Amino acid sequence: MSESYAFIGLGHLGGNLAASLIRNGFAVTVFDRDPAAAERLVALGATTASSPAEAAARAGNAITCLPSPKVSEAVLAGPGGLLEGLPKGGTWIEMSTNGRDEILRLAALASARGVETLECPVTGGVHLAAAGKITALVGGDPALYERHRPAIEAMCAKSFLMGPVGSAAVIKVITNMLAFIHLVAAGEALMLARQGGLDLAQSYHAISASSGNSFVHETESQLILNGSYDIGFTMDLALKDLGFALAMGREFRLPLQLAPLVSEIFQMGKQEYGGSAWSTQIVKLLEDAVDT
Ligand code: NAD
Repeated sequence: MSESYAFIGLGHLGGNLAASLIRNGFAVTVFDRDPAAAERLVALGATTASSPAEAAARAGNAITCLPSPKVSEAVLAGPGGLLEGLPKGGTWIEMSTNGRDEILRLAALASARGVETLECPVTGGVHLAAAGKITALVGGDPALYERHRPAIEAMCAKSFLMGPVGSAAVIKVITNMLAFIHLVAAGEALMLARQGGLDLAQSYHAISASSGNSFVHETESQLILNGSYDIGFTMDLALKDLGFALAMGREFRLPLQLAPLVSEIFQMGKQEYGGSAWSTQIVKLLEDAVDT
């Protein structure tokens, strides 16, 4: 019999991941502080619970996809949290993006209650998550990974076991640091093409076929050019993850140059457009500078 899962945090990313689990035949019990988010999953076949503890008690394992380590801690270890419901030997799969110190601290809280942790942040964005094609970066015990691999593969096209808990956070923060650097660079490239009087659709294709191409250009430049910016990932989340990259730089004594600069650019973006603006709107800083 396959494992069943509680799924807590059904936002832009978690909603799509939970839907993939349900589509692939897993029994899923959902909880979100926003009842409408839970209802969308009920329409697909999930059952609901009135708290993370109740969902976890019913399922025996729990998955989270939440906006910050602070929220993950409250959902895991706060009143009515997962650790009140998970049985000894149950698994907590954390799919939110955390820094290494944060996931190690949270995993220790779980371990003290006999619950094992598999960290499983994902990379590729909401659009790939909706198509079940996102990539999982996994940290944890290899046997635990094998146990939950069917569920991970129901949500993600590829998964990489990186090492023990904490190792997936390191690579996830690295991949996001690269993505934000690429996004700022792609925005500058598009603005140079625009100011140079080039056809932007043709410039997009030329860059895609060039040595300057990147995954971010291929996926996000489209959203910038069509004016929707709809990446499903906010400035606040970008700043959280850049904060983890800066902390890693300090911890590993690496005088990073680009990450602090890009973090400052996103601070300016947040000031101009708000923390809940899509991260792709960072390009508007340049656009607005030219247009005013
Ligand atoms: P989101 O804000 O869209 O969703 C968060 C969900 O958590 C919301 O539905 C919210 O109601 C719920 N929530 C918040 N506090 C809660 C609580 N106390 N109890 C229960 N539910 C609560 O965020 P998202 O974009 O889905 O991102 C979630 C995590 O995934 C973040 O750590 C983010 O960095 C990571 N991530 C996101 C993407 C993406 O493309 N959006 C990609 C990779 C990783």
